[in-house]
Amino acid sequence: MASSAAVGARHSSGLRALSPSRATDFKTCPRLFRYKVVDRLPVPPTPAQARGTTAHLALERLFDLPAAERTPARLYDLFRRAWMELRDRRFPELFDSVDDERAWGTGALELLANYFSVEDPAAIEPIHREFDVTRSLGRMRIRGIMDRVDETDGNIVIVDYKTGKPPAPRFAASAFFASKVYALLYRAETGRTPTALRLVYLAGPAVLELPVDDRMLAATRRQLEALWTAIERALTRNEFPPRPGPLCGWCPFLGICPAVEDPTAASTGRADAMTPEVT
Ligand code: SF4
Repeated sequence: MASSAAVGARHSSGLRALSPSRATDFKTCPRLFRYKVVDRLPVPPTPAQARGTTAHLALERLFDLPAAERTPARLYDLFRRAWMELRDRRFPELFDSVDDERAWGTGALELLANYFSVEDPAAIEPIHREFDVTRSLGRMRIRGIMDRVDETDGNIVIVDYKTGKPPAPRFAASAFFASKVYALLYRAETGRTPTALRLVYLAGPAVLELPVDDRMLAATRRQLEALWTAIERALTRNEFPPRPGPLCGWCPFLGICPAVEDPTAASTGRADAMTPEVT
């Protein structure tokens, strides 16, 4: 799953590597970043995360099959098998009952059915899947995992699957942040500049696309450098101020965060338009 690459940080000697996910955490709320990366507090798994992880694995394996066999039925089967592999190892005791788990599975299969209305997997031959790249960019060390990379007539497209809803229009630009970082990494790794970025939202369903150019990549690099500097400063000073906002309702640390006086009100006041993406 592309946007969940690990990041390491050492309090005493600075940042080792940064992924788009953790960069986004810091942008959203430095305290959230501290809880995850510095304090390494456990984050309880959720059904949405389990669905995203399992769906990504099934979609990755779909392209192991011959083109003619990339059908909805085979994808559902891959999802069931992936869940059997992941359930006890990654998501033990996630559901209170068999009925809850069954309802979750039914919802996940309905989501996967949407995939075929936005892409025809029989017509796609990816050149990479789960493409894991770590590169030094100047003084930074950046890691990203691309769900899929396609090449058609010399045009390279980096594809990211999303099992959450597509963003409201005003958040669409920021939805591409991780993919822009992947494009930077892809160019550093291969010497080739991707042509476009594609976000495939299974809930919706919807596809968002953005062409890539050098100006965009230069701006993304500047943004990463500013974040890298800010994170290193925060690590040196041990200053990670909380930044309360609409996303607190989904924060796994809501119950311990000193900035939120009423965690119950925050968790029930979630705004749909701000639904965080589960990749
Ligand atoms: S509850 Fe809100 S302010 Fe506190 S760590 Fe989470 S996102 Fe930050």
